[in-house]
Amino acid sequence: MNRLPRFALAHLPTPIEPLPRLSEALGIRLLIKRDDQTGLAFGGNKTRKLELLLADALAQGADTVLTTGAAQSNHCRQTAAAAAKAGLACRLVLMEPKRASGNLLLDALLGADIVWTTRERRDADLQRAFKETASQGHKPYLIPYGGSNPLGAAAYAYALEELLTQGQPPETIVFATSSGGTQAGLVAGARILGFRGRIVGISVDEPADILRPRVAELASQTSALLGEPSIFHENDILVEDAYAAPGYGVLTAAETDAILRFARTEGLLLDPVYTGRAAAGLLDLAQQGFFHEGETVLFWHTGGTPGLFAHDYAVPLAQTAGLDLAE
Ligand SMILES: *Cc1c(COP(=O)(O)O)cnc(C)c1O
Repeated sequence: MNRLPRFALAHLPTPIEPLPRLSEALGIRLLIKRDDQTGLAFGGNKTRKLELLLADALAQGADTVLTTGAAQSNHCRQTAAAAAKAGLACRLVLMEPKRASGNLLLDALLGADIVWTTRERRDADLQRAFKETASQGHKPYLIPYGGSNPLGAAAYAYALEELLTQGQPPETIVFATSSGGTQAGLVAGARILGFRGRIVGISVDEPADILRPRVAELASQTSALLGEPSIFHENDILVEDAYAAPGYGVLTAAETDAILRFARTEGLLLDPVYTGRAAAGLLDLAQQGFFHEGETVLFWHTGGTPGLFAHDYAVPLAQTAGLDLAE
């Protein structure tokens, strides 16, 4: 694999821990890879992508990075932190303004300039903010939604390589997938490095019909960027979309149950939008016999924990957890 330039942001390698109590309950050997502990402003999978994206922005002489996401976007929070560390300005085009809590509070603390938009106007508003930044005499650099272009995705090929240096490879890797960059990088890395286990993305929003071809194309582009060109087809991509139906960011009993179960049996915190839904999927798949007895399953924790402190999630979570204050 090519070694692409990196702007150092992450504490690597992230640890892998056994989850003995959940393993026993589920009849598998469950491990967790702690990409919630990447070290940058509460961490998450975007830290790895941003190491490559920020190196490119700096090489191009940019002084401002722009990106977009939901008001509670982990990607936007991580971009704001990475930009601050690199001495760049950051403009975030955000949807669905709610309370100044969770990731949105952190964006403000990290000094990001926030532009509000709607789902429909998002791309147009991002382009407008880009042009406006340039017309003000700045050098803007656009980071795509989720940091999921081939350069961002390449970080997860390196992450798979990191995993393979950490001991016996798992039989199955399970994680939350959305814009697809994490999965594209993992599958590209797997083919380059000869990892033969299953790589199962639990979709948090998109149907598998849309996500599988998208991830395949991104994986093809990513492997080319890494100097190991290879074509991926949608049949190469495993996406489980059975848990996506409630829609993006909608907290249901399934996520809440998974969050409480991981917290109360392993002292581990998941997030309401991504890892809570992926863990709910993992628990259900285990129940359905998707894994064989004793299978080594690695849950890749992709971060997102500041979402726990977003007001709209904190209140219902607290209530279910037994803390029912009148608010
Ligand atoms: C962005 C994100 C994901 C999804 O990663 P993609 O590369 O966009 O598929 C998963 N978990 C968390 C916590 C995220 O912030």
